[in-house]
Amino acid sequence: MKRTKIVDIFDPQLIGQQVSVKGWVRSRRGNKHVQFVALNDGSTIKNIQIVFDMAKFTDEQLKPITTGASLHVIGQLVESMGKGQTAEIQAETLEIYGTADPETYPMQKKGHTMEFLREKAHLRPRTNTFGAVFRIRHHMAIAIHKFFHDHGFFYFHTPIITASDCEGAGQMFQVTTKNLYDLKKDENGSIIYDDDFFGKQASLTVSGQLEGELAATALGSIYTFGPTFRAENSNTPRHLAEFWMIEPEVAFADLSDLMDLEEEFIKYCINWALENCKDDLEFLNNMIDKGLIERLKEVVSTEFVRLPYTEGIKILEEAVAGGKKFEFPVYWGCDLASEHERYLVEEHFKKPVIMTDYPKDIKAFYMKMNEDGKTVQGTDVLFPQIGEIIGGSVREEDYDKLMTRIEEMNIPMKDMWWYLDTRRFGTVPHAGFGLGFERLLLFVTGMTNIRDVIPFPRTPNNAEF
Ligand code: ATP
Ligand code: MN
Repeated sequence: MKRTKIVDIFDPQLIGQQVSVKGWVRSRRGNKHVQFVALNDGSTIKNIQIVFDMAKFTDEQLKPITTGASLHVIGQLVESMGKGQTAEIQAETLEIYGTADPETYPMQKKGHTMEFLREKAHLRPRTNTFGAVFRIRHHMAIAIHKFFHDHGFFYFHTPIITASDCEGAGQMFQVTTKNLYDLKKDENGSIIYDDDFFGKQASLTVSGQLEGELAATALGSIYTFGPTFRAENSNTPRHLAEFWMIEPEVAFADLSDLMDLEEEFIKYCINWALENCKDDLEFLNNMIDKGLIERLKEVVSTEFVRLPYTEGIKILEEAVAGGKKFEFPVYWGCDLASEHERYLVEEHFKKPVIMTDYPKDIKAFYMKMNEDGKTVQGTDVLFPQIGEIIGGSVREEDYDKLMTRIEEMNIPMKDMWWYLDTRRFGTVPHAGFGLGFERLLLFVTGMTNIRDVIPFPRTPNNAEF
């Protein structure tokens, strides 16, 4: 008999029919006449209640049914008297696939801390919270592809292993097959990479942008969506060493096109969650963050503030003059800390802010210079709870201006001739951004630690599972 997934079982048409369900036990309760088992198969946050009439089953048969055990039940689907559920199954046959010893199975009913569950990352998808988070993660990935596909963007695969280190010198993970116990060095003590796998020093990518620009200046509009790596030792609730990034890149786009895209895209994704992840969002709203759904609805219905950095600094300086205390100083030229970003978004404007036109010295070499010669056309999208969720910019398309910045900033460009060719041959204005997938998920799920929205987080001192 074909298995029915629990997500499909609450269809009123199925009432009265015989169904076959398979899943993991969430709980069992009852008395000597009747036993109730809540079964979950991961297809939905909802459990199906299985009713065992103890005139038909023995205690011995039901004994292995403890939290975490896996079962196959065939029975009749009937309307339920219990409140909060529409249907239940009157068990006719029971098959136990696997038991879960209550003494040792760590995912007992309730009350585990997030820290405890992180240590059990191999089993935490079986909890309600992580089931919800990982289903939402899936739906958001689908939303991203759907948005870009429907808007004529091509999904372009940029490499994970790279030999250009211009983006984040010093914070990349090296990729090597060299014998680390016996490294060949030159007279200055520098490692010789000639005999390494790639014949030069190679690393895991921090961003697909540079290759994305090659694609955008050929296919017009592209996006990447893949893993990126940063070896920065920042132990925060918003940083991972391995995270997924979405990076659209658009030829012929200017600053206002870029901001429109950022805003439309992020609203589309949040709307998608509201429409396609209702049950999971309701669960998270009840259990994790009572303001979640309200906040999601607010963000999709409000217009984001577009704020030049210089004006943002003025607002922050006025706040400081008015008695607001920040840990880090505020002055024109400073790189905004998360506390500053959150003040603007959560207290001052009470909506998302797209900040633009940053001082050139705190931004990357490829950002387009404004006419003032001091600021560049970078945009960060700042969100409540999260701070920076998107970093983007209009790219400097002028070869000479780009080279000037490269020299001023001492960017190692010897392996970057291919990037510069975009500016040598048929260069065009273009722009793009990077959205950290897990930052988006933090916002959409209401979870507060980035380690809890990726199945197997990689952070300093942690690569278990
Ligand atoms: P932050 O200032 O928050 O460290 P960043 O400015 O270094 O971020 P970018 O290089 O602009 O980040 O990367 C683009 C986007 O990627 C960011 O807006 C953010 O959403 C995400 N991101 C960056 N670093 C991480 C990380 N270590 N873990 C998870 N997401 C990240
Ligand atoms: Mn950034």
